[in-house]
Amino acid sequence: MSLPDSLRWQVIERAGNRCEYCGLSQEGQEAVFHVDHIHPVKLAGQTELENLALACVSCSLRKGARVSAEDPAGGDFVRGWRGSQESAR
Ligand SMILES: [Zn+2]
Repeated sequence: MSLPDSLRWQVIERAGNRCEYCGLSQEGQEAVFHVDHIHPVKLAGQTELENLALACVSCSLRKGARVSAEDPAGGDFVRGWRGSQESAR
């Protein structure tokens, strides 16, 4: 995946340098957060700000596993931590 630096920075800025799935701050983390395609490129997701989310390592792994597993159409791992807290499971 190639992502222009400018777009990457827009994602990071919008996210406030936090994982957009669980809210973990990049600060103090050793691993660099990943800019994730919410709707995977493989499934025709676009490389544009609306379809990108900053994701910590555990969220991107969790999501990657999920998308490649049984639920290819349900890749809608939503940026949700700011709103509802019901994504805890
Ligand atoms: Zn996360």
